[in-house]
Amino acid sequence: MKGRKLLMIPGPIEFTPEVLNEMARPTTSHVSPDFIACFGECLEMTREVFLAPSAQPFIVAGTGTFGMDMVASNLIEPGDRALVVNTGYFGDRMGDILSRYGAEVDHLRAGIGEVADEDELREALKAKEYTLVSMTHVDTSTAVMTDVGTLAPIAKAAGCLTVVDGVCGTAGAECRTDEWNIDVHLTASQKAVGVPPGLSLLTFSEDAMDKFRERDEPVANYYADIDNWLPIMEAYESRSGAYFGTPAVNLIYALHVSLKQILAEGMDERFARHERLAGAFRAGAAAMGLEMLPASEKEAAPTLSALYYPEGTDASLCPAIADEGVMVATGLHAEIKEEYFRVGHMGDCNESDILSTLGAIERALSSRGYTCSAGSGVQAAQDFLTGK
Ligand SMILES: *Cc1c(COP(=O)(O)O)cnc(C)c1O
Repeated sequence: MKGRKLLMIPGPIEFTPEVLNEMARPTTSHVSPDFIACFGECLEMTREVFLAPSAQPFIVAGTGTFGMDMVASNLIEPGDRALVVNTGYFGDRMGDILSRYGAEVDHLRAGIGEVADEDELREALKAKEYTLVSMTHVDTSTAVMTDVGTLAPIAKAAGCLTVVDGVCGTAGAECRTDEWNIDVHLTASQKAVGVPPGLSLLTFSEDAMDKFRERDEPVANYYADIDNWLPIMEAYESRSGAYFGTPAVNLIYALHVSLKQILAEGMDERFARHERLAGAFRAGAAAMGLEMLPASEKEAAPTLSALYYPEGTDASLCPAIADEGVMVATGLHAEIKEEYFRVGHMGDCNESDILSTLGAIERALSSRGYTCSAGSGVQAAQDFLTGK
């Protein structure tokens, strides 16, 4: 398709043709037998993709932010204390949402590009009792990945409900919901799940459902109230239709195709592919002299990268990269947003997309007067991919 720009931002991402076809299918009744089976299977496949065999899945029309709202409105009662392991923009947002429903919120912050370690979390949990601990798996504003597999079990052992905002990680970065003691895992359709924007996907553990059932106060958000949605999810999963709010029929059909594609690849294979592509991208960026925002490789996310503009360049680099055929995203973290840009590499992204992107960045850098030897980024990525 001439004139098309490769979309390499942290969501929405490029979707497969099979997924996009579902968006153009004639919209059917939300209680037609066909759709009931489709929705039911989506709920089952969500458990598999989240690696949450024992959890209650929810698929509701809304964005990732609505998923965060659904967590806070159902699980927080005024006076509950919540701790946010904060790695940037979306940790701040989670804190705002939790306090909107009456939580007393503390933030466990690290420097930009870093994440609090297990000792800092243990200290914080010793200092105060919390009802809920939330963390962002991959922070879209910094490209920092939190070690959820270490931190969530620590919070759980301290008696807290654990919430993971997986919006920029789920189905790309390894996340083992049940095994890692994650009570609520949430994401949105338009990132590594690979479906156009408009769906929130969540899983709730038995402990999270119990906290909801034990509420004294009604949920202050009518649309988000689990009392309204649980019967709907249960009905579709047992293959009967139900109505609370009209499901986003075409998005659910598209989700069905995408979840099937994800499971056909295999979760372990998919996690490994994202690590490999991210490794290749970072090797290429480093060879061009670009410095990444995450403090170390260990904290660098497999689903997106954040890179400082090199000396002598600025945010005009992003439109220059777009002129070279690839769309990337500008900075998001309030304190440093003028200093860096972001590249998404998740979902159906492949080796050639990584190489195209590095090539476009290199040409754009050259157009801004920054010199690095031509082909150095692509070569380093090729060496990485071919194991040299
Ligand atoms: C994108 C994103 C969100 C918000 O999702 P929307 O669909 O834009 O509302 C929340 N958390 C993280 C980590 C994200 O990357």
